[in-house]
Amino acid sequence: MKAIEFIDVEKNFQDGDEQISALKKTNFSVEKGSFTAIIGPSGSGKSTFLTLAGGLQTPSAGTIKINGQSFSSEKEKTRSAIRFKEIGFILQASNLVPFLSIEKQLKLVDKVKKEKANSEAGNQLLEQLGVAALKKKYPDEISGGERQRVAIARALYNDPSVILADEPTASLDTDKAFEVVKILARETKEKNKATIMVTHDERLIEYCDQVYVMKDGVLESRNN
Ligand code: ADP
Ligand code: MG
Repeated sequence: MKAIEFIDVEKNFQDGDEQISALKKTNFSVEKGSFTAIIGPSGSGKSTFLTLAGGLQTPSAGTIKINGQSFSSEKEKTRSAIRFKEIGFILQASNLVPFLSIEKQLKLVDKVKKEKANSEAGNQLLEQLGVAALKKKYPDEISGGERQRVAIARALYNDPSVILADEPTASLDTDKAFEVVKILARETKEKNKATIMVTHDERLIEYCDQVYVMKDGVLESRNN
C-alpha cells in the first residue's frame, strides 16, 4: 500500500503582490520499505514538500493521503493525531530537548501519548542505533552524529509508518553523514518504513532506492 500519496498537490505563498509557487502541481507516492531521496538547491521547495507530507502545513490545492487515508483535508486536531501516530520527523539540528537526558528524549513521546513508558523498546532502539551507552548523557555532552542517531531512535520509537528527514546530515562531517544515512537505510528496510530524506548532498543518495530532484517547485524522478 502507498504510505504517502500526493494527488495534484500545489503550495503557493503570497509575498506582498507576488505569488510564490513553492510547489507546482505534484503527483507522487512512496511505498513502505522504500528509501527516497529528494535533492535540489536551496529554495527549490524541498522543505515545503516535506512539511506538506508531514501535515505541518496544508496544500493550496490537491490531496495528500497517508496509508490510503485522506489527511490534508482533515481538521488540525485530526491531522495532528494522524501525524503523531504515523509520522516520525528527523530535522537538521536533531531537535533534542536540551535539558533531558538521552533516555528521557524517548520517554517524552510517552508523556505526549499519555502511555506508560515502554523502556524495553526504547532501550532496544538506542542499542540498535549504537547510542545505548549514552543514555544518561545530555544532548550537549554527545557529538553531532550521536545526536542524529538519538533523533532517529526517537523518530522510530512511536513506530510510525513514515519517516521524514529534512537535511538530517547537514551538520555532520562526511564519515558521520554516511553513517547516519546507512542507519536510516537499514531501519527503513528492517522496520518497513517509508522514508523520505531531503538532502543537498548527492553523495548520500547511493543508499536510496529512488531519487527525485526538486527544481523551482517541480519534482522530477531521476534514475538512480
Ligand atoms: P528548500 O527547502 O528547498 O530550501 P523551501 O521549501 O524552504 O525550499 O522554500 C521554497 C520557496 O518557497 C522559497 O522561495 C521560499 O522562500 C518560499 N517559502 C517557503 N515557505 C514560505 C512561507 N511560509 N512564506 C512565504 N514563502 C515561503
Ligand atoms: Mg529546506
